Parts: sequence; C-alpha cells; structure tokens
Amino acid sequence: MSLLSVENLTVHFRTRRGFSGKSAAVVYAVDGVSFSIEAGETLALVGESGSGKTTVAEAVLQLNTPTAGTICLDGVDLAKLSRRDRLAMKHRVQIVFQDPYSSLDPRMTVHDLVAEPLHAGKRMRPADVDSRVLSLLEMVGLGTQHLWRRPHEFSGGQCQRIAVARALAVDPDLVVLDEPTSALDVSVQARILVLLQELKQELGLAYLLIGHDLAVVESVADKVAVMYSGRLVEAGDAAEVFHRPRHPYTAALLASVPSPDPEVRSQLGVLQGDVPSSVNPPEGCRFHPRCAYRMPICETTMPEMRLVDGGTTRACHLPDDALPSAGAGDGGSDWIESSQLFIDEGVEASADSAAAAAAVLDGRPIDPLGLLNEKDRR
Ligand code: SF4
Repeated sequence: MSLLSVENLTVHFRTRRGFSGKSAAVVYAVDGVSFSIEAGETLALVGESGSGKTTVAEAVLQLNTPTAGTICLDGVDLAKLSRRDRLAMKHRVQIVFQDPYSSLDPRMTVHDLVAEPLHAGKRMRPADVDSRVLSLLEMVGLGTQHLWRRPHEFSGGQCQRIAVARALAVDPDLVVLDEPTSALDVSVQARILVLLQELKQELGLAYLLIGHDLAVVESVADKVAVMYSGRLVEAGDAAEVFHRPRHPYTAALLASVPSPDPEVRSQLGVLQGDVPSSVNPPEGCRFHPRCAYRMPICETTMPEMRLVDGGTTRACHLPDDALPSAGAGDGGSDWIESSQLFIDEGVEASADSAAAAAAVLDGRPIDPLGLLNEKDRR
C-alpha cells in the first residue's frame, strides 16, 4: 500500500463576480490527476506556472476541497474522516514553503517557531518541549546559540533550516516541498538539498516536491510527474523521464533548460507561448496549440495516460514507439510526416527556415518547436 495515493484528483473553482457574488466562471485548476508516493520516496511535480501543481499540493495538505477524486494516506480516504481524525492525519503531512522569510513570523523567536507545532499536538512538559526544539535544531545544523534569535537575524539558508525543523516537529511521514530552494542563493541551495536528502534517509521521510527548476528536481527526485494545464502528461522514474522524455511537452521543457556549456546549442525559447487559461482550456489535448507534433485527433480528443515503456506513462496520441525530438540537431525521430507540419506564415521566410523545411519534407529530423507557430494556422 502506498503512503500517499491520489486518484483522479479534480479541483475546480468558481470565480465570483463583484459584490453580487454571482458565479462568473469555472477555473479548471486540476483535472483527473493520479499518482502515488511510497514511504521514503521523492516524487517531483513539475510544469510551468499555472499548470496546477500547487493546487495539487494544497489538496494533499487539505487546504482546498477537491471537486472529485480521492486522496488516501496509508489507504485511508481523507475525505471520509471525521473532522477530528482529519486533523490528526494533517500532522502526518507538513510543508516547507518557497520563501523562508515570509513563512516565519518575524516576531517569534526560533524556539517559539519550532515549538509552536508541538503545542498543536499532544500535551508536552515545558522541559520536553525545550529538549525537542533543541534536537530539531541540531538535526538541521543549528544549535543553542540560535534559540532566542528572530528570523531577521538569519540568512535565507538558515531561515529555511528553521522552516524544515518546524515542519519536522510533529514527526510527519510526508513533507511537501514547495520550491524549497528557489528563493535561495545557488551556493545555499546545494546545502539545503543535501540536508533534505540526509533527513529523508535518516527519518524515512517521503517528499512531494513542487518545482520548476529541473536541475534541482533531477538531483533529488526518484519519480517525476509532469503537469500541463491541470493534467498529468507524463510520469515515471526520474532518470527515465529526464534522459528519454516520451511526451512532446516534457521534451520541450527539458530542451529549454539553458546550459553553461557554450558547445551545447541553446534551446531557449524552444517552448513558445503560455500555458492556456484554466477558465477556457483548449479542446482535445491541452498542449495541442503549442505542439509541433499535433495531429487532427489532438484537437478533438483528450489523450489518456497510458503505459509506454520503461515504466513511463504519457498522455499523447503519438504511436507508443515514437519519441519527440529533444531539440534541433540531436538526431530526433523521423516519423513526422510533412502533412502534419505548419510553417508560421507570420515569419518571413529565411534561408534557414527554407532549409529546415526542406529537411522536414525529406523526412529528416528538425527542431520543429523552433520552426512552427503555436497558433493553429493549418
Ligand atoms: S502529439 Fe497530440 S496528443 Fe501528443 S502532445 Fe502533441 S498535441 Fe498532444
């Protein structure tokens, strides 16, 4: 049995109009998302801003109410618990926020910040609270000299250590890491990541990591689930997904990561356009307005997640053995037919684009996302 099992999670919000409070529109934030996390495992949810990953995390933390679907912790459906039991379960899932400064009350001392969750649980003697706070601080690399200081006296990395100690105070099984290093300096990021990995091994913790920094995700995640416009598009073992992406969106996302190596061709801008509005998502595959591989079926039929190979699942109408190209010049697949391709009519034809188009028509691999318009101009 999985520690956390999320089945067909759907979260829709209704927006309200002005003072009348009348319902104006439905926001399709999350649609039919399923995944599981085993004890001691790290699952990363990745995707662009607006893809719905934070809404999923909030649902797991019981900070919003799902429209449909189930969230089970150790096989227990959280929605079926009484209020009191649900509160007890809440302690088993904690969160470390992105910005350590805004997640800590600046008026409180470190001692009180770390002790606060302890008071919410079972009653403890003051001496036991003090000793538990100190042991938590030592666990995250701080000590007695930090006990009575306030957050503004610490660096960002130290504040994030305090936030981690606070999250661990109630002995959680699962910690949601909401971009835990994105507000920190690069040198500090590595130390926090090492700390999180050490704590995971020492305490047997499982992590649900929300992230868009793919380098961070690759370094810590066991499994990855890629979200786009409220839906999962690819999920699997992290090494498999990063080295052999099966979904055009994952491939484009990975190709967009800048490389410090000047020999490596930059793919910046390879993923053009924005995540569509959650109020009015496109019909069919939600990625089709930006996808260079789209086919007529993509515009009308939503692809379901299905197993391809290597234990990876993806939601795409491409044949199971067809892999998207990771970018230009990488020797991508040659199964694309010219009838499925679109040249942006708004771009003046250049020698480069003509050469590339010829290469496509000859059935040779190209960088389609760099060439094509994201709008439907067929
Ligand atoms: S090929 Fe079709 S189904 Fe697959 S990602 Fe592109 S638009 Fe979506």
